[in-house]
Amino acid sequence: MGGWAIFCAICGGPFSSQVNIDPEGTDEDCYRDEVLRDFNLGWLDDLCALGINPDAPGNDKSFLTGVGGYFDYGAVEVVTGEDPNVPLQNNAHFIAYHDYAGIGDTREPHIFPFHPICYKDILQRCIYQGKSKQIRKDVLFDVLEDLNGGRYVRLQLIYGEPEPPADQIWYSNKGQEVLVANPVRISKLDADFDLIMKSLDKKAEQDQNPQDEDIFNKLSPELRHEVFKLLPAGSILALKAASLAMHTTTLSREFWKHRLRSEMPWLWEIHDIDVFQSQELEDKTSKLLLDIQKKSQYTSKNDDYIFGLANRRRIWGVCEQIQSRYLEKLKNISNTDS
Ligand SMILES: [Zn+2]
Repeated sequence: MGGWAIFCAICGGPFSSQVNIDPEGTDEDCYRDEVLRDFNLGWLDDLCALGINPDAPGNDKSFLTGVGGYFDYGAVEVVTGEDPNVPLQNNAHFIAYHDYAGIGDTREPHIFPFHPICYKDILQRCIYQGKSKQIRKDVLFDVLEDLNGGRYVRLQLIYGEPEPPADQIWYSNKGQEVLVANPVRISKLDADFDLIMKSLDKKAEQDQNPQDEDIFNKLSPELRHEVFKLLPAGSILALKAASLAMHTTTLSREFWKHRLRSEMPWLWEIHDIDVFQSQELEDKTSKLLLDIQKKSQYTSKNDDYIFGLANRRRIWGVCEQIQSRYLEKLKNISNTDS
């Protein structure tokens, strides 16, 4: 029997870009080359580890290593990085999830492995909703430890659709290429956003809708705000694009951010753009949001979605499961402290 693979605690994906790809696209046990040809799979090779060092000084014994990769037999090899808590005695060699070789007290302390982007770009954002707070690593370690068990190749979480395989090796199932698409750097999404960015700061075209035909003129500003409160983000933009009265009714930044964060928390690129500059921009953005809602959803029926974004949305769902446990633990800690 050879070694075995372990998977990212956050996304459930492999730690190797060497996935099976079939140029013909006919093999059911291989990804299709035509799908992955333009994708950079390099992000899969990177791994960092979260662990506890009992010998670290101070109360917080947790550490986050620098970047490295997966070796085999559950062992990872990383660079120490900047965290002073990383134990130095074993040349940054760690065992992921569970030390099968050790028995009882001789078991080595294990770490949790993840892709750096899954941690920094997705989990960090999900837990603190864009606020510039850092994850408390000791609390996160506790959360992951609670979820550690079973076969010790990933956590006991719902990893979403398509379900990443959790076998001895990574199976590259045809049609599930989405699982290896970079969830943070998404060129298709950049192209869509370029259209929006190009419209920013363009002078608004005046009088697209003459005021006297605009029925929303008859509503007081308070009532217009009540209308906005009832609508999803895309419809708010569509309404503003169609009515000058609604366009000129200002929405607070907090309201808008909150609306976007609750509907599309995983589309962070849009959260900080001022999309209310012109009706043209509102129109474009409204269509983009509608399109993205659809194209961020994986389906086994066709390839009509943005691969990286569908993967991001799936991973966001995993991060939300971690987030609720994390915040719960944090709340309990502050309750005991006070
Ligand atoms: Zn990952």
